[in-house]
Amino acid sequence: MKLNIKNTFTKELPADPNLDNSRRQVTEAVFSYATPKQTKAPKVIHTSKEMADELGISEEDLQSEFFRDIVTGNQVYPNTKPYAMCYGGHQFGNWAGQLGDGRAINLFEVEHQHKNWKVQLKGAGETPYSRTADGLAVLRSSIREYLCAEAMFHLGVPTTRSLSLSLTDDDVLRDVLYNGNPAYEKGAIVSRISPSFLRFGNFEIFAARKDVKNLKNLVDYTIKHHFSHLGTASKKTYINFFKEVSERTLDMIIHWQRVGFVHGVMNTDNMSILGLTIDYGPYGWLEGFDFGWTPNTTDRQNKRYRYGNQPNIGLWNLYQLANALYPTIEEVEPLEAVLNQYKIDFEEKSFKMMKSKLGLFSDNKHDVQLIQNLEDTLQLVETDMTIFFRLLSDFSDAKSGLNLIEKAFYNLDDVSDEIKRLWNLWFNSYFERLQKETLSNSERKEKMDAVNPKYVLRNYMAQLAIDAADDGDYSLIDELNQLLKKPYSEQPENEKWFAKRPEWARNKVGCSMLSCSS
Ligand code: AMP
Ligand code: MG
Repeated sequence: MKLNIKNTFTKELPADPNLDNSRRQVTEAVFSYATPKQTKAPKVIHTSKEMADELGISEEDLQSEFFRDIVTGNQVYPNTKPYAMCYGGHQFGNWAGQLGDGRAINLFEVEHQHKNWKVQLKGAGETPYSRTADGLAVLRSSIREYLCAEAMFHLGVPTTRSLSLSLTDDDVLRDVLYNGNPAYEKGAIVSRISPSFLRFGNFEIFAARKDVKNLKNLVDYTIKHHFSHLGTASKKTYINFFKEVSERTLDMIIHWQRVGFVHGVMNTDNMSILGLTIDYGPYGWLEGFDFGWTPNTTDRQNKRYRYGNQPNIGLWNLYQLANALYPTIEEVEPLEAVLNQYKIDFEEKSFKMMKSKLGLFSDNKHDVQLIQNLEDTLQLVETDMTIFFRLLSDFSDAKSGLNLIEKAFYNLDDVSDEIKRLWNLWFNSYFERLQKETLSNSERKEKMDAVNPKYVLRNYMAQLAIDAADDGDYSLIDELNQLLKKPYSEQPENEKWFAKRPEWARNKVGCSMLSCSS
């Protein structure tokens, strides 16, 4: 395996001069060198061929011992020096100080077909940023990250990618529900890929320490390599940089809302500066449509990161980034203008997205009400979001509407006569509204099916793959990976995955209850 290594990050940004692996506060540096831990018996259990292809890695390479050793940290690629990044973050609304790559180790950068990719291992051992934890990851959370990142990519949602999923054969102690019942689990490592793993928190840490010199260094590096179309460093460029980060963040979140993805831990250390979905922890997929839902049990009290609050939190996080970038700009108004624009754009883009889910493309002054009524009606009883929108593309007349979407209800007995009346009311107004569109039924269906996925990584599906993998059967990981490469396509052989969450999964750990323990 011969890679075209081209390291820019470690070459152009200041390194921590301290080379030992002690846990510490790291100042005036963007990263610290850190070597992955040797594992007991590494074994690659899945790889993403598409991602490998993007990196110039052949199918033959993927089978090699060398590849296995690189993506599990058992060998360091010649002439490269792995490192962990220093960042801070606001966690659940509070400034948490230095966090950093506590269990992520960046290996190197690969340049292929004019694209630069960072290759990072998650779960490869401790770094100076590991704080009180072990730097490791377990199979359960690694399968979840590995599958979901690729699923999101194929859904067209901006995201970091997965290259490989491996077992380490080391045991890792975890207390899944934080209730004093720790148990050993199988250790695993995901190699993940992104043009950049920089987070809002990388910028915040320098601002918090009033280290404007390094803050500027990092902003300049980021613009040079990832926002070069904005031009060379100047205050104007910095403002435009913030503007674009804001736009990308909003676009990403609108995609989340469209497909029913709930990130679960939108702390500023989990917000990518490129507007990519990053750090798949206690995330979840909406089953019943519910603005108040969060998969993260750690957040059960306040539900800060619930589905309906994600756009607000995006804005809150951008406020923190604005504060962090302020010393490079020293003017409040342009930053405020960007944040105000986010609110305006949110209304517009979210409205447009919801309209597209309904197959509406022309302007109509009643559409806001139509969508509001739909969202209210969807929340009357537990109604599966994915199934509802997918079935709706076959809508042709108001009378059969309720029948058409029946499969989306979790419990038909809950659908009272009053609720049926409200649905029929909505279907009537939807029918009338569709008469004002120019598309034929089949044209509309095609457009709706392109934005309303048929298959998403439902929480119980990932859990089934985890349970099987725990017993040494990795076939479901592959099956789901294949399925989710075509989430918008009809796949008759996979109809069984176009189904509501089974009842056994309703209150099961890993399906509806997830924690940050991973
Ligand atoms: P998260 O909530 O997973 O995004 O993690 C928040 C912070 O905790 C980051 O700085 C992570 O690197 C760190 N962290 C999470 N799990 C571990 C672990 N097992 N070992 C070391 N650091 C960790
Ligand atoms: Mg994180």
